[in-house]
Amino acid sequence: MKNTNSLLHDSAYKLKAIMNSTTEGIVLIGTDYKILSFNKQAQKNAMLVFDKPLREMNDFRVYFSDNEFDNFVHLTQKVFEGEHLNHEAKMGDHWFHINYYPVYDDDDNLLGMSISAHNIDERKNAEEARRESDERTKITKDTYEGIFNSLTEAIYVHYDDGVFVDINRGAEKMYGYTKEELIGKSPSHVSAPGLNDLEALKTTISKVSETGVSQRIEFWGKRKNGEVFPKETIINKGKYFGKDCIIVTARDITERKRAETAQKIQFSIAKKIHTANNTEDFLETVRDELSHLFDTTNFFVACYHPEKDTLKPLIFRDEMDNFDEWPASQSISGQVVKLGKTVYLKGDEINTFSLKYNLEVLGTDSACWLGVPIFIQKQVACVMVIQHYTNPNAYSDFDVTLFELVAHETGIYLEKQKMIEDLISAKEKAEESDRLKSAFLANMSHEIRTPMNGILGFAELLKRPDLESADRGDYIKLIEKSSARMLNIIDDIINMSRIESGLMDIKLSKLNINEPIEYTYVFFKPEVEAKSLRLLVHTPLPAEQATISTDEDKLYSILMNLVKNAIKYTEKGVIELGYSIVEKNGRAFLQFYVKDTGIGIPEDRQEAIFKRFVQADIEDKMARQGAGLGLAISKSYVEMLGGKIWVESKEGEGSVFYFSLPADARADHTAS
Ligand code: ADP
Repeated sequence: MKNTNSLLHDSAYKLKAIMNSTTEGIVLIGTDYKILSFNKQAQKNAMLVFDKPLREMNDFRVYFSDNEFDNFVHLTQKVFEGEHLNHEAKMGDHWFHINYYPVYDDDDNLLGMSISAHNIDERKNAEEARRESDERTKITKDTYEGIFNSLTEAIYVHYDDGVFVDINRGAEKMYGYTKEELIGKSPSHVSAPGLNDLEALKTTISKVSETGVSQRIEFWGKRKNGEVFPKETIINKGKYFGKDCIIVTARDITERKRAETAQKIQFSIAKKIHTANNTEDFLETVRDELSHLFDTTNFFVACYHPEKDTLKPLIFRDEMDNFDEWPASQSISGQVVKLGKTVYLKGDEINTFSLKYNLEVLGTDSACWLGVPIFIQKQVACVMVIQHYTNPNAYSDFDVTLFELVAHETGIYLEKQKMIEDLISAKEKAEESDRLKSAFLANMSHEIRTPMNGILGFAELLKRPDLESADRGDYIKLIEKSSARMLNIIDDIINMSRIESGLMDIKLSKLNINEPIEYTYVFFKPEVEAKSLRLLVHTPLPAEQATISTDEDKLYSILMNLVKNAIKYTEKGVIELGYSIVEKNGRAFLQFYVKDTGIGIPEDRQEAIFKRFVQADIEDKMARQGAGLGLAISKSYVEMLGGKIWVESKEGEGSVFYFSLPADARADHTAS
């Protein structure tokens, strides 16, 4: 018979043996939470969870934080009251299914509780994974719809039969159809007929189906409203509801194509700046190039003339109107010049604008009108305009910007052209003045030689001892005349060179203009009479009203010069000299005139005679003497005195030379 002790020992032993034979971790704790016993598995769990070994008689609380232990006490309260509890709990990183049983002795006295825990990590992890995967699936479905529809690209899905099974909102927007309208339709429904190579497209799709390699192609699409547009598509192989399908993403590349075209246009125009044959050729190219992007049927470029305040076209292409020249002040194009900026008007805006600036619309009413200033050396020199008679939306904002850029390039061309013209004319002028100078020198040597020969010749004759006294007198007169002519020529040359070098100054004094006229009359009377001509003078103002402040010497010189010419170029008739008072732009002028009934001046020479050296350049049929400087000097003098000189003449009938001097400085005016 074994004693109680050994029995007890025996039962403890058996208990341990039993406890160790289960896979559950079992811990027995007393009502005071002291560990009474535990098995091997419990020790393993403890190491796993607490990283601390269990020891018999250890207070169970050492394994928990205060808070955790409070929870544990709270939870297990019921157990000590006789209940069985179980739950799943995560301890540290591990999940356990835990059973709590009350433990009694044979007399039903509560001894404590048994805690048996069993690791359920594997199940929990599997559950977690499933939950996550469920969630992911849910996310994928929602996000799929979201992404599918939020992409600006059009996406459409079709199977082998090529019929749309799904399209996104991007596709609805791009084509203008609803999803319902497109599902079940074939892609040819949204493709521009005639513009695309459908066979090539089919081949590409089959290739994607076979190889799974995506392909990119450009294509022409067609919207519901019939508008055709370029698109870039990427054809992918995919799965839709588990079945192989083709997923196409398409992007409207209108903007990109426009930008590319605009770039090409600018490039072509920039190139043309250097290769154009002439301005019209250049502007025609501009119009042609721009027509790749918008309608340029009605296109013109007009130059502004500041003096006349008019616009004159360099090119005018229009299906309705044609103008040679028009007033700037009343036209929209004129406003582009005045404002110095782009004017872009659509529909009613044209009327509003015209009313605002008080304009008269010159030609046919247009539906939209775009004008851009062209600057040359920071000034508006021209205006470039396009207009459309029917479509108020013929030009987009993009077109306006491009038009402005092209106007800028046109400005560069025109400026270059102007520089070339200026250079050519400067060169021609230089050559011309070179030629005139040589001719002048040749003529001058003749002009100087003639009186010089006279002087020397008659001086030689004077030496003759047998000379009659009457002849002597004649010879001396001839020598004097030749000397005076010489002096005249030398004076002219000196004066001209002083004018040219800017050394000629003005000496103002009060002068009664009747005086030089009367002096000229007296001076030339003998010469006039010698040629059997008549000389008349016209001095309408009394001395006190005829007094102005002017350069006396210069006024004498101008009058003498003109009358001398009149006598020189007139064989019969009358020479008249006088002045009148005229008003011009609110200012008073004295307008002098010298009128003759002489040979006259051909129209094409009426401007040239005021240029220096000109007489020398022409063949003077009547072989009249003169250096060709008189009128040039007179013109310079008149201009120095603030006036103008001009001629009205008819060949064979005579000439009237006019010159004006400001009369503001008249004595009576200054006095009042
Ligand atoms: P010139 O010393 O040769 O007269 P001007 O400068 O005075 O030089 O005149 C230039 C040219 O203008 C003359 O050579 C002549 O051909 C023309 N001319 C000037 N005055 C008259 C006139 N009254 N009638 C006709 N021709 C004139």
